[in-house]
Amino acid sequence: MIREIIPIAIREVASGTRVLDWTVPNEWNLREAWIKDLRGKTIIDFRQSNLHVVSYSAPVSGRIGIDELRSHLFTLPEHPDWIPYRTSYYRETWGFCLSHNQLREMTNPEYEVRIDSTLEPGHLVYGELLVPGASSQELLISAHICHPSLCNDNLSGIGIAAHLARHLLSVQHRRYSYRFLFIPGTIGAITWLAQNRNNLSRIRGGLTLVCLGDSSPLSYKRTLAGNTEVDHAVSHAFQHMEEKTETIDYVPYGYDERQFNSPGFRLPIGSLMRGRHGQFPEYHTSADNLAFVHREQLASSYEALRKIIEVLEANRTFLNLFPYGEPQLGRRGVYREMSSANHDHQLALLWILSLSDGSHSLLDIAERSGFAMETLRDVAEILLQCGVIEEK
Ligand code: ZN
Repeated sequence: MIREIIPIAIREVASGTRVLDWTVPNEWNLREAWIKDLRGKTIIDFRQSNLHVVSYSAPVSGRIGIDELRSHLFTLPEHPDWIPYRTSYYRETWGFCLSHNQLREMTNPEYEVRIDSTLEPGHLVYGELLVPGASSQELLISAHICHPSLCNDNLSGIGIAAHLARHLLSVQHRRYSYRFLFIPGTIGAITWLAQNRNNLSRIRGGLTLVCLGDSSPLSYKRTLAGNTEVDHAVSHAFQHMEEKTETIDYVPYGYDERQFNSPGFRLPIGSLMRGRHGQFPEYHTSADNLAFVHREQLASSYEALRKIIEVLEANRTFLNLFPYGEPQLGRRGVYREMSSANHDHQLALLWILSLSDGSHSLLDIAERSGFAMETLRDVAEILLQCGVIEEK
């Protein structure tokens, strides 16, 4: 479905492949999963909701007494209509998830149970797209894809990443290259890092995109270092947005930013989100559905992400070619190019000339002066064209 939006490459890595300290596990495939009463009436069927089966369940088939069956049934008594989402990746077992109300109705002494699944050598599958730019330096955008039927925690990040990629593909000039990853959480990031560990110096920074459709304020989790270009770019974009935003420090919990920031890699990858990992009641339940995410929130998350990208694209470092005193701007045609009535632009121009000594980027100048990057970018472009500054 992502390929209907953007031309990702689909990559397969065989089960058993060593990836960093891990091994790509067997592939799980599920054909049928149900519980029926002894008269053949279906009580639970994964075709109604794929959350009904504990992901990675081993096969099981036969008549099971309710007491034994209960130890394989998972519910949320505090939300009796919701179905929990559970996995058992690294311990071989089986189970069903159901609403607590459904469990209450299971009063028979025995049930017919079937999970027709296979756990066999296969592949870990992920999607990747490189959108090339003028520079081989890359910004990495990563979304987890392991449980896409959950709408906020999962599908929202996939959707926004895919639409950002589509937008970038349509833009005439891109300064950076953009690498998009659609990977299963944890093992996917570890696999990608293992396969690309010799090419990581091209990663300039990036973001994981998670939980971007609910009504919590837009939030940014900093990179582990906390003061990288991405951190400054998000901070700048947030300051110049009308929406209420929050920024939190790095914690080694959440999504794949933990793998990217780990000591051996230290890639400066932050995380853009609304609801936080594990902190909203709908998290990892059937209530994380289309009703829980909102068009307006998705749209404004997307706009914020585009703003962040624009800031990064605009963040160049210039050298004032006339650093001794102030250059005579009129003679160099600068005022012809600028509306001289615009006092703001005059001041922005003086800030750029003052700080363009090669050690301050436009983002540094934005932070020092309070100007928006768009203004500085436009004024710098004029100075560049008039030969007053050059890119370092
Ligand atoms: Zn999740």
